[in-house]
Amino acid sequence: MSDRVAIYPGSFDPPTNGHLDIVERSARLFDRVLIGVGRNLAKKTLFDADQRVALMKEACKKWPNVSIESFDGLQVDFAKRSGARFIIRGIRALSDFEFEFEMGNMNRRLAPDIEMVYLMTAPDYLFLSASRVKELVAFGAPVDNLVPPNVAKALRVHAGQGGLRTGATESND
Ligand code: ADP
Repeated sequence: MSDRVAIYPGSFDPPTNGHLDIVERSARLFDRVLIGVGRNLAKKTLFDADQRVALMKEACKKWPNVSIESFDGLQVDFAKRSGARFIIRGIRALSDFEFEFEMGNMNRRLAPDIEMVYLMTAPDYLFLSASRVKELVAFGAPVDNLVPPNVAKALRVHAGQGGLRTGATESND
């Protein structure tokens, strides 16, 4: 039987412990998980795609069946190119559900043979989003228990360079 390969697409700006929880659980469910870091985002990001890939790579080192790449274009095309038949997404609140439901239906229309897989967030990460993390850092609050250590460090460096200001990195995640 062929390997069960899944992609986990997102902006990961920056990767949080909520994302990593989804990665860890996905790594147990699938033979291979390919994290797709979105390049062509309409939203302005704090870290560019290469930096987000590097942060994710460092944070996911402990899972041998997890790899990371950046991608342009549609999730379903990235999945097909990668030989994946599953797309993983995390769900936190009802608001996530509505957005994901719409996108999932669109993906099904575009590629009926690719299955969407939704993992419900662990309760600890219910209110954790990349935007909240950026907001906290902008106000000088610690985020060490919300993101992996390498990301906390990168955020500190960025803030130290005056790179983090509220509103400057608006995103809808
Ligand atoms: P996108 O911009 O595509 O929504 P994100 O980087 O914000 O990308 O999130 C990628 C995926 O991870 C999405 O499916 C999102 O719902 C999920 N996610 C984000 N934060 C959490 C969290 N705290 N717990 C579980 N899933 C999460």
